[in-house]
Amino acid sequence: MTERRPLLELRSVEVRYGGVPAVRGLSLEVAPGELVGLIGPNGAGKSTTLHAIMGVVPVATGEILVDGASLLGRPPETVARSGVALVPEGRRVFADFSVEENLRLGLAARRNGGGIEALREAFDLFPALAESRRRPAGVLSGGQQQQLAIARALVAGPRLLLLDEPSLGLAPAVVDSVFETLDRVRERGVTVLLVEQRAQRTVALADRTYVLANGGLRATLTPADASDTRRLVAAYLA
Ligand code: ATP
Repeated sequence: MTERRPLLELRSVEVRYGGVPAVRGLSLEVAPGELVGLIGPNGAGKSTTLHAIMGVVPVATGEILVDGASLLGRPPETVARSGVALVPEGRRVFADFSVEENLRLGLAARRNGGGIEALREAFDLFPALAESRRRPAGVLSGGQQQQLAIARALVAGPRLLLLDEPSLGLAPAVVDSVFETLDRVRERGVTVLLVEQRAQRTVALADRTYVLANGGLRATLTPADASDTRRLVAAYLA
């Protein structure tokens, strides 16, 4: 953990669906430039945490701060304008639009200029997309569609990128390429909060990984824990 002010801070956040808590008293921090993991079993509250940050679901109690400013009660478009981007589960790309057209839709969300440069950087980061820039997104492989979904969020120039299970449903070799992509995204200085089911891979990649269970924080792991299967399993299953 760095000494800098967190870019994202959750303080004792509780989210309820119809009165039933899905996230309970969750506190976590992401410093600028960090890639932080959020793992846990199905139904642990991972997606709900991302949706609460994005303003898609209301926070019952607690506080969410981006760069020290409260996001509570803000609609998703205001949260997006403050520099937060969410890549939801399921690689939602516009199948009939070309790769470049998909990216241009992402550019529309930019707060500042520099769109051409952002496109160039995206193609630099994802050479496979550059090769397919005029092809319809629907003909890309699952892994390439995931790259496109991430690239489309990146061209908007977010300060904070929220990723919801980018490796879901991908073949193992493709999962490797997604994790390599995330490492390169971090190297570019983008701050990332990564929700994943692939615990070991995430713990190995992330600067720090929070383990959620039943809506609450169960453990905080570091890359050194990735090779400690017993600790990993204990944190996951305790
Ligand atoms: P998964 O890995 O399966 O996506 P998750 O850790 O992301 O799980 P959430 O999707 O955040 O978990 O769900 C947390 C809890 O909230 C679960 O019990 C789930 O059934 C419930 N839940 C999620 N979305 C809703 C909703 N829209 N309405 C009611 N309950 C919901």
